[in-house]
Amino acid sequence: MSIQIRTAAVTGLKKCEILNLETPDLRPGEALVKVHAVALCTLEQRIFRGEVKMPLPCTGGHEVSGEIAAFGPGVNLKKWAVGDRVAVRLLYSCGECYYCRTGHTNMCERAQKKPTREGLLVGPGGLCDYVIVDTASLFKIPDTLTYEEACLTEPLACVVHSVGRANIQLGEDVVVIGGGIMGQYHVMLAKRRGARVILSEVDPARAELAKKLGADMVFNPMEVDPVEFVKSVTEGRGADVVFNTTAIPSVVPQAIAMTGKAGRMIQYSSMHPDAPTPVSPQMLHGTETVLTGSISPDGHDFFVANRLLSSGIIDCKSMIARTFPFAQAQDAFEAAIVPGTFRVIITD
Ligand SMILES: [Zn+2]
Ligand SMILES: [Zn+2]
Repeated sequence: MSIQIRTAAVTGLKKCEILNLETPDLRPGEALVKVHAVALCTLEQRIFRGEVKMPLPCTGGHEVSGEIAAFGPGVNLKKWAVGDRVAVRLLYSCGECYYCRTGHTNMCERAQKKPTREGLLVGPGGLCDYVIVDTASLFKIPDTLTYEEACLTEPLACVVHSVGRANIQLGEDVVVIGGGIMGQYHVMLAKRRGARVILSEVDPARAELAKKLGADMVFNPMEVDPVEFVKSVTEGRGADVVFNTTAIPSVVPQAIAMTGKAGRMIQYSSMHPDAPTPVSPQMLHGTETVLTGSISPDGHDFFVANRLLSSGIIDCKSMIARTFPFAQAQDAFEAAIVPGTFRVIITD
């Protein structure tokens, strides 16, 4: 049975409007979820600012939590019940391309080509008062976790993936560059992996927050030379792991230079526009440094992030900047694109 829903859709340049839509019927294995919280990630902000070209109107929103409202046929009702509180995984992978088949679903060739259901708009689709998803994309949350916290499962899953790429060992020196929401999540996870965590951040408030969340050391890259500083606190070696969470081109050669022998440099942030940097083959030969990156979480990362939040191992309350009601989605987008803002969340 189809129902009337509302979406907060991007309809033009820096324009978000509430539109009415009609859902398709639920298919076997699907659930209808009443959305209670959606966070505005960088992807939504880029669509709003016209930097990511999508056919408009477009429904953004891939950081979502809510409550199960109804089921299609064939759902395992021993596992699921109407009223279950859930985090929702909305990013798409096709399951049948080379990367999906080899376990790299985060690199699915069709990740940006999520099929659009009849009656709904293109886009990740979370900025609606109801969403339709396979129950395989639902992750139960406990009553101790608010919906606002639970919608931050997806960004945490991105960082779970990144930290997994670094293979951090007990006692290693880990540098996190940038103390935004993603930098703070890296600090928390690296600390729990048993590392000594060093944050590079210019803003004193973010530096203080990182100390509260587990950073052992913070420095201001405007006040000290970042490479010299990291070498000075690692007996001249450089760090075992460096995460660059910033999109600042000049930081990349510094991040490589502060990575020690047998170290791993993870380019976490995307770079728009891209900014190629020279790399010394002799350095790679002589140090076995690993230069890599991290893009999007896979299903396992999401599962881990759900467990970290649900069990209270990670507390994400300080990642929330502001919340806005659904009707004020335009204001929420405008607040979200202010540089330096932590997550802005739209609630029902
Ligand atoms: Zn996201
Ligand atoms: Zn695929």
